Amino acid sequence: MINLPHDDNTCGWYHALTPQIEKPSLKGAQSADYVVLGAGFAGLAMARRLAELEPNARIVLIDAQQVGQGASGRNSGFVIDLPHKFSLEHPDPAHKQRLLSLNRAAIKQLSSLIDKHNIDCQWSAAGKYQGAVGPRGEAYLDHFEHLMTDLGEPFEHVDSNQLAKVLGTDYYSRAIYTPGGYLVQPAALACGLAASLPSNVEVLENSPIQRLTKEQGAWQLHGENGSIKTAKLLLGTSIFTREFGFLKNRLLPVMTFASWTRPLTDYEMHHYSGTLDWGLTPADHAGTTLRMTADRRILIRNTYKHVTKYGNSINDKVRADIQSEHRKVFLARYPQLAHVPFTHTWGGSYAISRNFTNFFGELDDGVYASACDNGVGVAWGTVSGSLLADYVVGATSNALSDIQKVTGMPSLNPPEPFLGLGVKSRIKLAKWQSRSEI
Ligand SMILES: Cc1cc2nc3c(=O)[nH]c(=O)nc-3n(C[C@H](O)[C@H](O)[C@H](O)COP(=O)(O)OP(=O)(O)OC[C@H]3O[C@@H](n4cnc5c(N)ncnc54)[C@H](O)[C@@H]3O)c2cc1C
Repeated sequence: MINLPHDDNTCGWYHALTPQIEKPSLKGAQSADYVVLGAGFAGLAMARRLAELEPNARIVLIDAQQVGQGASGRNSGFVIDLPHKFSLEHPDPAHKQRLLSLNRAAIKQLSSLIDKHNIDCQWSAAGKYQGAVGPRGEAYLDHFEHLMTDLGEPFEHVDSNQLAKVLGTDYYSRAIYTPGGYLVQPAALACGLAASLPSNVEVLENSPIQRLTKEQGAWQLHGENGSIKTAKLLLGTSIFTREFGFLKNRLLPVMTFASWTRPLTDYEMHHYSGTLDWGLTPADHAGTTLRMTADRRILIRNTYKHVTKYGNSINDKVRADIQSEHRKVFLARYPQLAHVPFTHTWGGSYAISRNFTNFFGELDDGVYASACDNGVGVAWGTVSGSLLADYVVGATSNALSDIQKVTGMPSLNPPEPFLGLGVKSRIKLAKWQSRSEI
């Protein structure tokens, strides 16, 4: 029995949108030239690119939920150009340059789509602060500075005073600012991308696929009220890929959580005294991500959980406990805003692998996937999704050969219960070590 996505209904980004009209669901016995499963950034990019390459094909994009309700609509909205922090440690400079150029291609692609289709999603070339609270975080910043210098990438030092003027808090001792990343309202972007797909893509929502079989050489996806047959199946299902029997013991399901305030009033903005539209990630990776949105909301993200059944184990009590942790973090930074409530607290599941390697390519005859972006999937999902479509139809490009060079096989996990115990104690240790940075 497949474990389905189990996302909460409390994602602030999604609630901030104008109500979305539900699209049709999978009904009856259907067939398509291509089925793309999962309408996150990866699946959206796969479907768009397939439609461009095969304008006469029937392409069906299916999701268990409404577009924007999966991890792609509930993340912190950093569209990061730099390689992931673990990839930054890679010994081969060419590997890092390839990742950089792939991420930048994603940003370029998203910029041009947002522009072309007037997608209203707070898209902004805001760059990114990486902030330290004390000596532990500062040591990470020093290391990051070396990595940026080796990579030949620009960065700026920001001292505590300069930082306080931007962030409206003197909580941080210093930061490094890198200019290439973008910020976005992720649910608005996902919904805007789905609404602007070419006409030969049909989007089916609220259609959880419960079973995948192969019958007379074709793949058959079974839902509750219908099924669809295809020769080519592209999986944009991130961590859920393992539910179909692929990459089975190679992906680690992790959940992280965010809370945000309502938009600050003019009076509160005066007391806040920082600027709008910035994002800060923690120098120490287990610390807190902080954002001030363009529409005046402060967002806090931290806490990791190992979730074998995804959101299933996260009830209201767990969410309330996480919200009180977020509240402490907020008050430590913004005591002057103590009366401003959080309006939403939500979580989302994504995939990491022990060797921080992303999978890209064919899993079985006619089944392809881009899965396991290790938690930085806005840019990666976009670029890997487009290139997977190229790969499936046999197109070639330098970008395709680059992505094949930087991806591989996520390493095998130890069996349960050792895996769960190991991951839980790693998360606990990281939280304890980073306590001054949370
Ligand atoms: C709180 C949080 C903050 C984050 N912050 C950032 C950030 O700032 N920047 C960044 O780059 N990344 C961030 N991430 C990670 C990022 O959200 C993911 O890496 C990214 O969304 C992965 O995109 P995807 O398209 O591969 O998969 P997903 O967005 O997970 O999409 C997979 C889709 O598959 C669907 N699906 C799964 N199983 C089935 C099934 N059986 N039938 C039908 N449909 C199915 C799901 O409903 C889902 O919509 C964050 C994640 C979280 C949770």
